[in-house]
Amino acid sequence: MIPVNEPLLDGNEKTYLKECIESGWISSDGAFVERFERAMAAHVGRKHAIAVANGSAALDITAAALKLGPDDEVIIPTHTIISCASAIVRTGARLRLVDSTADTWNLDVAKIEEAITSRTRAIMAVHTFGLPVDMKPLLDLARKHGIAVIEDAAQAIGQTYDGKHCGSFGDISCFSFYANKHITTGEGGMILCDDDALAARARSLRNLCFKPERRFVHEELGWNYRMSSLQAAVGLAQFERLEAHIARKRELGRRYDALLHDVRGLQLAPVACSYADNIYWVFGVMLDDRLPIGADEARAILADAGVSARPFFWPMHEQPVFRKEGLFEGESYPVAERMSRRGFYLPSGLALTETQQDRVVSAVRNMMSTFL
Ligand SMILES: *Cc1c(COP(=O)(O)O)cnc(C)c1O
Repeated sequence: MIPVNEPLLDGNEKTYLKECIESGWISSDGAFVERFERAMAAHVGRKHAIAVANGSAALDITAAALKLGPDDEVIIPTHTIISCASAIVRTGARLRLVDSTADTWNLDVAKIEEAITSRTRAIMAVHTFGLPVDMKPLLDLARKHGIAVIEDAAQAIGQTYDGKHCGSFGDISCFSFYANKHITTGEGGMILCDDDALAARARSLRNLCFKPERRFVHEELGWNYRMSSLQAAVGLAQFERLEAHIARKRELGRRYDALLHDVRGLQLAPVACSYADNIYWVFGVMLDDRLPIGADEARAILADAGVSARPFFWPMHEQPVFRKEGLFEGESYPVAERMSRRGFYLPSGLALTETQQDRVVSAVRNMMSTFL
């Protein structure tokens, strides 16, 4: 079976891990956490970086650091991972959903303004599948209405928008270093921002809101969302390979594009859009409506041929966990609904070989030839 993702750990990972083990510094107090934070902050061009346990934790801390609450609303794409929604919902704030565009599969910025109300506190820009959200009009809107921007750049590490790094636009920006991201720590995440007070709050929330003056007295509840030095050691080694990883992902994506572009009935991940070249977090495909099968059937056929594929996200407005609370009643977002039913992604990991990729391509071609 060709896995949907296999990471590449061919840099200084072992050397740095050995340093941790031989020195005994394996907790979050080890030196690699700060080294990794500094490297990411410098790369993205931000003043502060706060390494955390995972990307979902980064979003939880972000929502708490912004002091979101029941009087607030936050705009997010309906086509995203649950972590974006759960971070907001747990603060008591209300979600306002926006659809994606059919060509970039990213947040449809033209539909944001109609979702803004007097209660809107933040817009979450989730860069999806390797292309960024169209940030300029989004930032203009946020400025016009005095709304904060949260950037979720988990799938866009090293990506740029009009030449500026993803993660540099948000009032606060989140990253994930899960095993399928462009650089990984196994599990891990990071928060980046420029504001001193916001950074201090995020740092405190990461560490149980311990107070420096009196350690076990707390004025607020935080989490233990710290990253260990073991994770950061892997992260720093991965960071040193970031450009190589992006080049490899682009190579894989463009090779899929070249080998599949003539297959009828299949919309392929866009190679580029007006403001960025795809860094292919994953190589997504969408089945035409005239095909008699959907994404689930296609994935089952591919699995029989030894290829694992994953579905696109299931929209937030169709999540049972929210629907049973009566949320999003009667709301409909046709692009995201179609993406969830007709979209899936092919094996896209950094360790994917050309031989494996060729097998994926012939499995896809075989499947499509039986229907068209
Ligand atoms: C991976 C991912 C997350 C969650 O990160 P974890 O480290 O898995 O918790 C959040 N947002 C997006 C867009 C992601 O792709």
